[in-house]
Amino acid sequence: MLDIVISGGLAVLPTGAAHVDIGIEGEKIAAIGAPGSLAAIGAGRTIDAQGQIVIPGGVDPHVHCRWPMPVPGQSQPNLTDGPDRVSQAALHGGTTTILDFALVDADNNVQQAIERRQREWAGDCYCDYGFHVMVQGKLDPSIPDQLREAVAAGHATVKMFTTDITPSRRGRMVQFGDIWEVLKALAQAGGVAAIHAEDNDIVMHMYEKLTREGRTGFENMAEVHNTLSEDLSFNRVIRLAANIEGSSLYMLHTSAATGVRAIAAARAQGTPIYGETLHQYLMYNSEDYKKPNGQIYHTYPSLKFAEDQAALWDGTDYGAIQTVATDEICCPLRYKLQGRRIDDTTGGNAGVEPRVSLIYTETVEKRGRSLENFVGLISTNAAKILGLYPRKGALAVGSDADIVLLDPRRRHTVRAADMHEADYSPWEGRDLAVWPSMTILRGKVMVEGGRLAGAASDGKFLARKVADDIRARPAV
Ligand SMILES: [Zn+2]
Repeated sequence: MLDIVISGGLAVLPTGAAHVDIGIEGEKIAAIGAPGSLAAIGAGRTIDAQGQIVIPGGVDPHVHCRWPMPVPGQSQPNLTDGPDRVSQAALHGGTTTILDFALVDADNNVQQAIERRQREWAGDCYCDYGFHVMVQGKLDPSIPDQLREAVAAGHATVKMFTTDITPSRRGRMVQFGDIWEVLKALAQAGGVAAIHAEDNDIVMHMYEKLTREGRTGFENMAEVHNTLSEDLSFNRVIRLAANIEGSSLYMLHTSAATGVRAIAAARAQGTPIYGETLHQYLMYNSEDYKKPNGQIYHTYPSLKFAEDQAALWDGTDYGAIQTVATDEICCPLRYKLQGRRIDDTTGGNAGVEPRVSLIYTETVEKRGRSLENFVGLISTNAAKILGLYPRKGALAVGSDADIVLLDPRRRHTVRAADMHEADYSPWEGRDLAVWPSMTILRGKVMVEGGRLAGAASDGKFLARKVADDIRARPAV
């Protein structure tokens, strides 16, 4: 006897989309069969999924919960909303796994930083979660060895910045020699480097230039965090990795055609490199900064131009871009509007809730893409690249029963007031062709018909290990 059978939906399986029944036992998918075939086994509950699209739970590879937001003229930063709120929003929108960051700072070594983050999240997250380790500033010479141990313990990815981002945030950038040492350690330990790549010299030069010229409004952000910076920095990191046997890269929030081209060229050479973009970069450009409250569309590096959006969309069609993340910063609108300048406007956006349905609408409905392409971008590819597959990202026997039913009859227009995230949404007014009627996390119905059924103790920490083929060649 199965616990749950999901019957009659169009399921996006690793082998392609098909009408099947999916049987759940405990936390796992236990059986997949032809429509009606699982009825004979019997089930505690049978869910009629006819007319709906059944997908593996979304994986958002890049969120920031309870994260300090520097505020102009304020000595203490604001904190963004915590995993309790963000994970509820994620589940309502069909995402069952979120990956955040464990920051190694002056007071904590790698192990302590991970343990601190574990304590903060335990019992406070409705969905499953993991952490990229983030190192910044001048690295202690012991850091590469510490990271080797962290990778072995299931923290398979390490984030580094090649820039301080703004003149006031000194201490983010990791020196290139230190990045070299970390890449060597990750290559040996089986980890993947997640890089925020911008050319610091170009970015800081543009801050000086625009400040001198009195053009400090945030609407000029694309001139500062510009396409040339992405070109130079992506290619520099790629050349570095190419000189380290076994090195693999995950390029965070790719925003420009230059970045897409750099990744594509490296992949053509066989380099194991993967591209993440953000839904902001796909759907907005620097013209949107000029709208009322234009800061709500901003995240670092910056919104770019129409030709960059076109290149990013091309990249998501089995090209250089494998994942669409949110860079989630969940906070009230008044926080998001506090900065107005190129050097104090906060990055990150609310968006974890509509992400899955938005990307469905933009790929399957508007661009006629396959369901497999859509599911790859919002779930499967991130699970593979970041070491969660096939536990996550797959509707397959033995995988976690993280299952979302997307209902085309729930077509609607985004209203922040209807969602569970911030008091604003950069996606306000957008048409969504589908919306989840149900989100299941490891066999437990967490959201049904828009009502939350789970608890903050339901989310589990996920240890991750990246498969060898992902690290050997562009395997996704
Ligand atoms: Zn981020």
